[in-house]
Amino acid sequence: MSSAVETEEHKALRSAVAALGARYGRDYLAKVVADGGHPDELWSEAAKLGYLGVNLPEEYGGGGGGIAELSIVLEELGAAGCPLLMMVVSPAICGTVIARFGTEEQKRQWLPGLADGTRTMAFGITEPDAGSNSHRITTTARRDGTDWVLTGRKVFISGVDIADATLIVGRTEDARTGSLKPCLFIVERDAEGFGRRPIDMELHGAEKQFELTLDDVRLPADALVGDEDAGLLQLFAGLNPERVMTAAFAIGMGRYALAKAVGYARERTVWKAPIGAHQAIAHPLAQSHIELELARLMMQKAAYLYDRGDDVAAGEAANMAKYAAGEACVRAVDQAVHTLGGNGLTREFGLASLITASRVSRIAPVSREMILNYVSHQTLGLPKSY
Ligand SMILES: Cc1cc2nc3c(=O)[nH]c(=O)nc-3n(C[C@H](O)[C@H](O)[C@H](O)COP(=O)(O)OP(=O)(O)OC[C@H]3O[C@@H](n4cnc5c(N)ncnc54)[C@H](O)[C@@H]3O)c2cc1C
Repeated sequence: MSSAVETEEHKALRSAVAALGARYGRDYLAKVVADGGHPDELWSEAAKLGYLGVNLPEEYGGGGGGIAELSIVLEELGAAGCPLLMMVVSPAICGTVIARFGTEEQKRQWLPGLADGTRTMAFGITEPDAGSNSHRITTTARRDGTDWVLTGRKVFISGVDIADATLIVGRTEDARTGSLKPCLFIVERDAEGFGRRPIDMELHGAEKQFELTLDDVRLPADALVGDEDAGLLQLFAGLNPERVMTAAFAIGMGRYALAKAVGYARERTVWKAPIGAHQAIAHPLAQSHIELELARLMMQKAAYLYDRGDDVAAGEAANMAKYAAGEACVRAVDQAVHTLGGNGLTREFGLASLITASRVSRIAPVSREMILNYVSHQTLGLPKSY
């Protein structure tokens, strides 16, 4: 896809990452998943090239860029068929939150490792009884001397087994009820009382999802990132990058599927001309290309606003970008599978598993309906229904 709105640096980054992605690609990822492993080689090579920490501050080993650059990296790896899901949580959410609100000590402890890929961090907000309604989360932090003691449950948390720690969203005992005043805690993987159970998902990804139990997990005072009274501002400093990165993930996957379908439609001939000559095949592919381009434009806007420090405008744009990218991805994958006919469902052509995978971008991290609720209420000023 071409883009006139990108700087020369961004275009250069895009093509460099695309070249890296082409060396790995879908076959590499499929093998890693089949072997039950993780894309460690790609992760560390991308990190060594400075791609994983491109958004983190230079003084802590990052590239000094922003979410605009990080989203380019994820989109291009996805378009090559080998997206790295943990980029959405480790450098984008956790790295950003620590860089913006962490203490000097927390920054020194975590950012260099997140930037060079030697350490990763997962992110846990979703709870079984709260779901889309984050205001209902009940994971609670109680003070005990200078320590914190954390109790609660989380669900669908990605990559907890491979992450060195998980950034857990809870609330303090004093703010146990009412609107959410979130507090963020770094919980190390092997902390006592921190249990995890893999969820059997129909997703062929390297990163697994987990149900977590926090059973009186004792944390030192400096496990708290930022201010316990800072409220939603700190949380959304991480959630807006997550939405932009989910858009990048979806656009990359949509582009991958579309390219496969276009290649197939150019070659496959069952009448006189290749099937791509039939408008019933060509038009939906053209439509998908347009939808992916439009979604990317919104993603670029959201990243630009976020990197400029306009958190409020970035919030609206990030929601819209996530919505547009999720819908464009689902439709592109659906049409790609259809374009391949029976081959769309074979393992050899590798598109069928994307039907499930593409749905993730419609559900997580915030569902299509919750974005429509946000836009109808916040942007259009319509009454709230829930
Ligand atoms: C593969 C995967 C990875 C994930 N990784 C993480 C992770 O790393 N960390 C993390 O914290 N979470 C993670 N999640 C969780 C994800 O963010 C949640 O699944 C998502 O927020 C939706 O919550 P829910 O599943 O409880 O759905 P629910 O909230 O139960 O919603 C179910 C359905 O009802 C609709 N709905 C709910 N409320 C309304 C309303 N008011 N109006 C209209 N419709 C409504 C929703 O749109 C949805 O279609 C992951 C999920 C998946 C699938």
